Amino acid sequence: MITMKILILSTSVGALSSGIGGGVELTIYNLIQEMQRRNHIVKVIAPQGSFFPYADIVEIEGNLHIPAQTQTRDIPTIMPENSVLANMWEYARKVQSDYDILVNFAFDWLPFYLTPFFETAIAHFISMGSLSDSLDQIMGEIARKYPQNLGVYTQSQAKTFPFGDVCQILGSGIDLSIYEFREKADKKLAWLGRIAPEKALEDAVKASEITQIPLLIFGKIQNQEYWQNILRQYPKAPIEYKGFLSTINLQKELGNCQGLLMTPRWVEAFGNVAIEALACGVPVISYARGGPAEIITDGKTGFLVIPDSIDGLVTAIHRLPQINRHDCRQCAEEIYSLTAWGNNFELWLEAIRN
Ligand code: UDP
Repeated sequence: MITMKILILSTSVGALSSGIGGGVELTIYNLIQEMQRRNHIVKVIAPQGSFFPYADIVEIEGNLHIPAQTQTRDIPTIMPENSVLANMWEYARKVQSDYDILVNFAFDWLPFYLTPFFETAIAHFISMGSLSDSLDQIMGEIARKYPQNLGVYTQSQAKTFPFGDVCQILGSGIDLSIYEFREKADKKLAWLGRIAPEKALEDAVKASEITQIPLLIFGKIQNQEYWQNILRQYPKAPIEYKGFLSTINLQKELGNCQGLLMTPRWVEAFGNVAIEALACGVPVISYARGGPAEIITDGKTGFLVIPDSIDGLVTAIHRLPQINRHDCRQCAEEIYSLTAWGNNFELWLEAIRN
């Protein structure tokens, strides 16, 4: 493979490593590491305060954008004053001729709109399912003009878009060497992710209250009011908030758990946390929709339950001892390695680069 010069444009909702971006932060980190390992030259443009080890990041000042999932579908696109996204793309415009390909990770209107005005090809990695009418429209136009340039995590995610059939399904992958396999677990459950309504943490808390099995919660509190409500509503649930941990520390704690609960109310585009759990040998219980439904094999690497059913979660929790934790790790190794995902991503970029 010929060396590519890749310019990555990060999400504009938060700095890299802040946790506000959710799973896309890990995806960007993994992409940088894997493309550098393959001898590509990678530079990243991201909001001020961004940090990743072993990454060449240009930090850009400006106001962060509002995450699309906190808005209703019909709301027009909002540009803050001194938009960090506009500043990032202004920078990209000036340096574009130094690169073979630009990779956009912002789930936002502007980069799609700008695509035909750039000389260097832009690959758009879409990190969530359909959430906004105005965004769907501009993405659809780009999909028509550049049918190869839109990438997504999963088939279920692609299906949420009217132009889903042209999206490249790229999956996801993690560096398995940093997730330690644990054969034995304590009698406790884990929940991890951004603490925000679309993730429906309250369902996992309810299940923990019913079973009285401790639930460890890891992740960024994106919506304080939502979190405080949960604490008020379920005072008898044996839950413990552990904070937002680095991947190294997260996998240590996660590996000791009997199972991971995933309770998304929305169509989860992928659910990086599912493959992180599997890599540690931790079975995943999830509602049967979106990305997790493609990742988990019911009865083998976890359980898929009827969406929004607390009874379903409780029944599955009692069945967790039936799962062989080796099968979980094996699934991660066979399907979700960084190398396998890197191959998909590299071929995609190679096909659309200048
Ligand atoms: N995460 C983390 N530390 C924590 C809790 C979560 O680094 O303490 C990361 C986790 O590794 C995952 C991301 O937060 O990469 C959540 O991503 P996911 O794809 O599950 O959901 P999203 O937030 O993108 O909707």
